[in-house]
Amino acid sequence: MRKCVKCNKKAQVYLHAHRLSLCGEHYIEWFENRVERTIKEFRMFTKKNKILVAVSGGKDSLSLWHALTKLGYQADGFYINLGIGEYSQKSLQKAKSFAEKYHLTLHTLDLSTEIASIPELTSYDNRPACSVCGSVKRYYMNKFAREKGYTVLATGHNLDDESAVLFANTLSWNVEYLKRQYPVLPEDDGFVRKVKPLCKISEKESALYAVLSGIDYIEEECPFSEGATSIDHKIYLSQLEEKSPGTKLRFYSEFLRKMYPLLKESSKGNLQKCEVCGEPSNNSICNVCRLKLKLISQKEKI
Ligand code: AMP
Ligand code: ZN
Ligand code: ZN
Repeated sequence: MRKCVKCNKKAQVYLHAHRLSLCGEHYIEWFENRVERTIKEFRMFTKKNKILVAVSGGKDSLSLWHALTKLGYQADGFYINLGIGEYSQKSLQKAKSFAEKYHLTLHTLDLSTEIASIPELTSYDNRPACSVCGSVKRYYMNKFAREKGYTVLATGHNLDDESAVLFANTLSWNVEYLKRQYPVLPEDDGFVRKVKPLCKISEKESALYAVLSGIDYIEEECPFSEGATSIDHKIYLSQLEEKSPGTKLRFYSEFLRKMYPLLKESSKGNLQKCEVCGEPSNNSICNVCRLKLKLISQKEKI
């Protein structure tokens, strides 16, 4: 029987990547310490910052919101209703119940009234659904945070997400993306600071934290993510992790430590303001305005 390294009670959790056995109580403590250490390591924010946590109703973002609140940070939630049928209704419910249970502020934004639902938008765009959805979410998260006076936007991206993106960008040596793959993106003209405090926590670790903390989260994956290549990349990395625990963490952390500083040196921004809406953009017309224009021209055809 494995015992908790802290209190010698029966261990409930064994973390392969860290070779660590912990009871439930000490696992929760370990997780929160790890989040706190990551925040400090990358100088993400302090207790003085007003943080907006983007919550999807899933285990990562709700665990993040829970841990930040317990650690004494000022964190409000922000949920974007993507209009993906039952999946969106259920996830909104999870985010709302969490906020009510802990007396926290949750802001919501309805994509259908801002632009159009994800099912509608993706039907007019031939890019993969996840990339359309990702760019629309990033746009509204940033706009909302800035307009409401939040200085930091935190997302629940975990080690599995970050290492899978790193893997994909490395396979194609996508240097422009690699240059921006850092858990803190500093504030810039029109952009609030973006942070990923769970970047060194695996998906399994965040699910464990959610379960042991009694967080009720949506378990279903978004129906639109089915078949996404990022899922394949996560599977390959998990197979490597299975054979050699700690692989994902090493891959990601060593990139940040050894490669990122070299890439950053050569970094040159290409930021401008969208000619239509004035939000920051890499092109003269931002992604969301291009989607809006597409929607208008499609509707005119009908
Ligand atoms: P995903 O892009 O679904 O992998 O989610 C990554 C992160 O984006 C989550 O951990 C959340 O912080 C945030 N997020 C995803 N979906 C939503 C949503 N509907 N509303 C607000 N934040 C979201
Ligand atoms: Zn213990
Ligand atoms: Zn625009």
